[in-house]
Amino acid sequence: MNANKPDHLQGAGTPLSQWQASPLLQQVPTVSLQELVPQGHRLVVVAPHPDDEVLGCGGLLAMMTGREADLLVVSVTDGDASHPGSSTWPAARLRDERPQESERALACLKLDVERLRWHRLGLPDTRVEQFEDQLCSHLVDLLRPGDRVLTTWRHDAHGDHEAVGRACANAVALANARLLEMPVWTWHWASPQDPRLPWQRARKLLLDDVTLARKRLAVNAHTSQLHEDAGTGAPAVLTATTLERLLQPFEMIFV
Ligand SMILES: [Zn+2]
Repeated sequence: MNANKPDHLQGAGTPLSQWQASPLLQQVPTVSLQELVPQGHRLVVVAPHPDDEVLGCGGLLAMMTGREADLLVVSVTDGDASHPGSSTWPAARLRDERPQESERALACLKLDVERLRWHRLGLPDTRVEQFEDQLCSHLVDLLRPGDRVLTTWRHDAHGDHEAVGRACANAVALANARLLEMPVWTWHWASPQDPRLPWQRARKLLLDDVTLARKRLAVNAHTSQLHEDAGTGAPAVLTATTLERLLQPFEMIFV
């Protein structure tokens, strides 16, 4: 995520209770890990900012324990623009801390961090769109045919999330891989029956209690995003209402 929020991402957003009452959401069919990432295929998670990989698909990542050799995580930015104007969290500190938070979070998911591949691209936070072609080329170099590439939805209504989604869509077409997308900010701005969502492509990956608990621990590893900024008075980037929407007992994937 990122705190440079345009108007549609301000405020509390759509309450979880409204999502839970959504007939369209209730009707989304389930999908298994094996269907999403069949044996012999890699899962490549492309995260615009450190924490998107956990917020969007921490449960799926936790299910990949034991298959770390099939896992590649790509951190597009280091998330150093999450606290604009902050003396507590200047960009240099965020560049240092947020990747460490990601590493601790992956360990919370019980992944063997030594065995998975993790690429940090260091593109500028909030300006990925300007580097979209470069990102696409880089991804094409990393991808193999048949890879399942999971990233933020191209219409997540956040600049970096959409740019990364588009770059991944172009890269998988060139690499003969397959695109999977996850909503992150969508849970905030969309309405529970929103016709803009690709409901036909939506699937739910159900998370059992243990997996959900690991995901919650992993989210909590992103401490820089969880607290009010004492310096600027800005609220936490990840508010309680944001987190409860992202810690439902399933993850929604657009296949
Ligand atoms: Zn993000």
